Amino acid sequence: MYNPKSLKADEFINHEEILETLDYAQKNKDNLELINKILDKARPRILGSETHCEGLTHREASVLLACEDEEINQKIYSLAQEIKEAFYGDRIVIFAPLYLSNYCVNGCVYCPYHNQNKHIPRKKLSQEEVKAEVIALQDMGHKRLAIEAGEDSRHNPIEYILDCIKTIYSIKHKNGAIRRVNVNIAATTVENYRKLKEAGIGTYILFQETYHKESYEKLHPTGPKHNYAYHTEAMDRAMEAGIDDVGLGVLFGLERYKYEFAALLMHAEHLEAVHGVGPHTISVPRVKKADDIDPSKFDNGIDDETFAKITALIRISVPYTGMIVSTRESQTVREKLLKLGISQVSGASRTSVGGYTEAKRPHDTEQFDVSDNRSLDEVINWLMRLGYIPSFCTACYREGRTGDRFMSLCKTGAIQNCCQPNALITLKEFLVDYATPETKAIGEELIKKELNKIQNQKVKELLEKNLSQIEQGERDFRF
Ligand code: SAM
Repeated sequence: MYNPKSLKADEFINHEEILETLDYAQKNKDNLELINKILDKARPRILGSETHCEGLTHREASVLLACEDEEINQKIYSLAQEIKEAFYGDRIVIFAPLYLSNYCVNGCVYCPYHNQNKHIPRKKLSQEEVKAEVIALQDMGHKRLAIEAGEDSRHNPIEYILDCIKTIYSIKHKNGAIRRVNVNIAATTVENYRKLKEAGIGTYILFQETYHKESYEKLHPTGPKHNYAYHTEAMDRAMEAGIDDVGLGVLFGLERYKYEFAALLMHAEHLEAVHGVGPHTISVPRVKKADDIDPSKFDNGIDDETFAKITALIRISVPYTGMIVSTRESQTVREKLLKLGISQVSGASRTSVGGYTEAKRPHDTEQFDVSDNRSLDEVINWLMRLGYIPSFCTACYREGRTGDRFMSLCKTGAIQNCCQPNALITLKEFLVDYATPETKAIGEELIKKELNKIQNQKVKELLEKNLSQIEQGERDFRF
């Protein structure tokens, strides 16, 4: 039986409820009166000096997804844009993945790290190698990482992951520092999540891959990841252990997208109902070509249009949740999605173990093909030309503004007085320390323009002071 408050996977991600939702959505896909009502509910409201958004339930959002009316789709896109601007402004947070190890005991059929793959070289970074990778990432200008590893308790036990986190935080090369380490490792125990929390991680990210239990079991035929309930209930264990920023995601292409979409929103509703805080981020990866993986073998691939609509609908359904798109997607696709709700992108990513330091890119350990191969400087330059403010900010997490504290800040819109100055401060650091002259010139202009828009005089003065201190060599200010 469907129960969003239950801690049992098959009750909070309830198959019958999803089927009923899809049926309801199909029956109402031309019900314009209902559709307009739903759109109206999702609109931002100004209450006093605050902007509020109610979001949508999985049923409401599924009706919008089923609707094929072009005019309605345009309304969805402009609403997504409006919500994005209200809560995230023009800021785009930048990060990079760091692959620690591709040893894996699971049998995931879409991933080249699956344990039946006997020809892919297996590699695990030593702490010296982690250090070298981190220095290379710092030298590009990165401040936030997402660490990635296969599941293998012999090669990659939690102690190894913890050692890597410690190493990453300890490295201060020139003006570089990694200030937030997000973690994307397999579902684990409450005890291990506690250890990750103590190690000072940012977000714990775990993609569900698919919410459809039967498909899930076929796609994960062997290894600990085969256990659907253990995987699906992982975020509850992470939250029980005190990790209050968690990142959800579906690997689009594995199952029918309407099913995944409804279930993903049900997962977000469940976290909110049980823990009082929804997911910190939602990622939208699509299956990519990889060593011994052919994405066309999966029947449920989605085209760019559908992908854009899903992104826009996630944005309006969970307005306070950040959205991530990686370099799995091309520059063109990323450009389109940025407008519709994406708030974080990766840049200059290598999806191989040791990929940032080896002279020749070691394609052979790559997890999947990257579609956007630009350097970090090129990505920053591109974002600024599009009118965005690239942000390397990690302040919220270091100030303890996580979980519901972050969400309430976000909900009142007060985040503008933190996020905007922090974005400009961290962009300034990038411009001074790492940018090419052309990127620096564009960035300095942008900072000047943004400074003039700040209305709070106190914030503006402090920010001006910090920016000039950065010019003189001081680092790491935050609002
Ligand atoms: N091994 C960990 C786990 O089991 O959750 C997580 C790390 S894995 C390196 C990160 C994600 O990459 C997976 O959750 C999966 O969604 C994605 N992935 C795997 N194979 C992929 C492919 N061929 N194309 C795109 N993404 C893929």
